[in-house]
Amino acid sequence: MVKAPILGLRCIKGLAFIGAWVYAQRQCPVDKTFLRIPSSFSGLVFRSYPEDHSEDTLWVPVVVHVIESYANEIPSERVGAQLRALNRDFAPARIQFYLPRYGPSGEPTCGLTRTVSPLSSHDWSTEEDTLKNLIYWAPDSFLNIWVVRSMPMQVIGYARALNDPQAKAGIVLVAGVLGEGEGVRPPYDRGRTAVHEMGHVFSLYHPFEGGCRGMTPQTCAIEGDEICDTPPQRQATYGCPRTPPNTCQETPIDLPDPIHNFMGYVDDSCMTHFTPEQIARMRAFLRFHGSTLISQANQLARGRTTPFDHVCTELMGISTPFIAPPKLKRKGNTLFVEGAEELKVYDVAGRLLHQTRGDEICIDALPFGLYYLQVFKTGYPFTYTIAPF
Ligand SMILES: [Zn+2]
Repeated sequence: MVKAPILGLRCIKGLAFIGAWVYAQRQCPVDKTFLRIPSSFSGLVFRSYPEDHSEDTLWVPVVVHVIESYANEIPSERVGAQLRALNRDFAPARIQFYLPRYGPSGEPTCGLTRTVSPLSSHDWSTEEDTLKNLIYWAPDSFLNIWVVRSMPMQVIGYARALNDPQAKAGIVLVAGVLGEGEGVRPPYDRGRTAVHEMGHVFSLYHPFEGGCRGMTPQTCAIEGDEICDTPPQRQATYGCPRTPPNTCQETPIDLPDPIHNFMGYVDDSCMTHFTPEQIARMRAFLRFHGSTLISQANQLARGRTTPFDHVCTELMGISTPFIAPPKLKRKGNTLFVEGAEELKVYDVAGRLLHQTRGDEICIDALPFGLYYLQVFKTGYPFTYTIAPF
């Protein structure tokens, strides 16, 4: 497959060396050349989609693949913090993200994988497929996020829309902008690089796509970012100016540039919202091109409503009601958990080997090796690693 040329295609942010590494300027050239939004969806066509009167929350399972240069280089809490930031900013769109409780084969998971690989230094210009093929979960069941340590040319994130025929959907981020708070680099330190990139995954362009094109009510839906309630903008704005510039004179009402939009380039602290039309477009796109991803069947298979396993709660600092894990007792190869309602044994590849209602299971028949035991007590799952004698 011929790849599109490199320049002007990926999300790039400038770096400056001022005492410590800080990002001086956000750049993200994910544009119409890069994002292959199905032509059946773009522009005017989207407006012919059935109107979305539903108040339903659209639930999107995400898996975060951390590609690191040594084990546990990137703290798990940052993944939890990123999830919270995404859900905070997507709440007005009624789109919410969750980490799956069950992986591709139904095995217990926290929705976080770790792979130690030289690809942690990711050359986005030549290695997109290599990185994504290193590890990914079925894109129709999970939205994949890859986190790497670094990318050349100050790239810190890029995105592919759902159903993009060129490459696997999802976003790639550098660890420096994953999550928010401690360890995250200002001024991109509120988890909004991921929010911006998710906007691309759900078919949004930058408000300055095409510069001042789309300045009239007749053209705003088919030119520029194809969104009529984001005034066109000749070029990106950086930092956080007190007064927004007005770089295009649209008719009949001339408005200042929409610099506070999540799809712009300002600092994280300066971004505040998606517009109603952007929200409508993302929801329509997600309902149509992510129908399997957000389906009830997938929510069930991924265990959306199953409370987070205690291991995951501790790992990621996600605040679900914490229940102390029940004590696992063992007599030979018989395992016993007082009060357990159900026990399941998986191999390390995630295949379900044994399942029993009740509080006791015998693992005599298992060949030597490591297995997962998942215990359900008062409806909550707890996972243990076990090995038969
Ligand atoms: Zn972008």
